[in-house]
Amino acid sequence: MHRFSSLLVLVLMLVGGTRASAEWNTVYHMNQRYVSLSQIPQYYREYAFTRSQPTGNVIRFTSNMSHGKTIMDFQLGSPNVYMNGVKFNFSFPIVYKDGRYLVSQIDLVKLINPILRPSYIDQSARVRTVVLDPGHGGRDPGTVNNYGYEKDFALKLAQKVRAKLEQVGFHVVMTRYGDQSLELEDRVRIANRTQDAIFVSLHFNSVSGGGAEGIETFTLSPPGSATFGRALRTSDLTVRAGNAKDTSNIALATAIHGRVISRLGAKDRGIKRHSELYVLRGIKHPTILFEGGFMSHPGEALKIKSDTYLDQMAHAIYEGIVVYKTATERR
Ligand SMILES: [Zn+2]
Repeated sequence: MHRFSSLLVLVLMLVGGTRASAEWNTVYHMNQRYVSLSQIPQYYREYAFTRSQPTGNVIRFTSNMSHGKTIMDFQLGSPNVYMNGVKFNFSFPIVYKDGRYLVSQIDLVKLINPILRPSYIDQSARVRTVVLDPGHGGRDPGTVNNYGYEKDFALKLAQKVRAKLEQVGFHVVMTRYGDQSLELEDRVRIANRTQDAIFVSLHFNSVSGGGAEGIETFTLSPPGSATFGRALRTSDLTVRAGNAKDTSNIALATAIHGRVISRLGAKDRGIKRHSELYVLRGIKHPTILFEGGFMSHPGEALKIKSDTYLDQMAHAIYEGIVVYKTATERR
């Protein structure tokens, strides 16, 4: 597994070409490879990052370039890292060891690097087709509240995204066009018979008690990292079909999730890793699972039932897809 990770670093550096002027020095901590945060400015020279001293356990890197500002906030002991205001749940928390702040190599290679250098994502193919996957359907209603079923809200959202994408020339495939029952295997099969595609699964959330609110996006855990919030298991070491697109997965999640959060001003629950979700595991294209808010939260439930709100959400998802395509196809 470590060999696998370091090979990827090498690949990304080669892809990075002339801009990658420094090499990463890795250290071991709890059987994981880590890299000192202090190496970030010298590696990503094109950003000219400056680093602030830790305040309240936060280490901030700021880049002020003519084409835009980039801020990364790492928090000691926490997996929650903010990049340009978007919340990411890292596979491993930031640790302090021997006078250095360390980030895991998995998070560096599979998260920070594809976000800072999306045009270097090695496996990025062209995006011609967008596969939209409205969650649930037919005899599976998903979550339910006083206003309706998750399966119906998800379909409505997907139809809105589809219309916007088709207007600018994308080819769109939906895993279901109406209220039909669909197995997870069917969704994967539909996705995997398309070419040059990305896959966006659309859901709404629910929790008992109704307290939680906000938007979260899941991407497949890279091999060697767990599902968000739980400890590592042996099965987390397995390489799934979806792992071939690890770096594009996170770039796609960032583009869509970031756009939705900034457009809707919704609570940001973060971009999270998941190693058990069937569609994330099995689809060979860049894939995310998007949760557009909690139907169990009174305020958010009201928004989700509003056509205007779903339209704004659809527009942000559409914009995110365009951002992803532009960023990854620019070389
Ligand atoms: Zn769902």
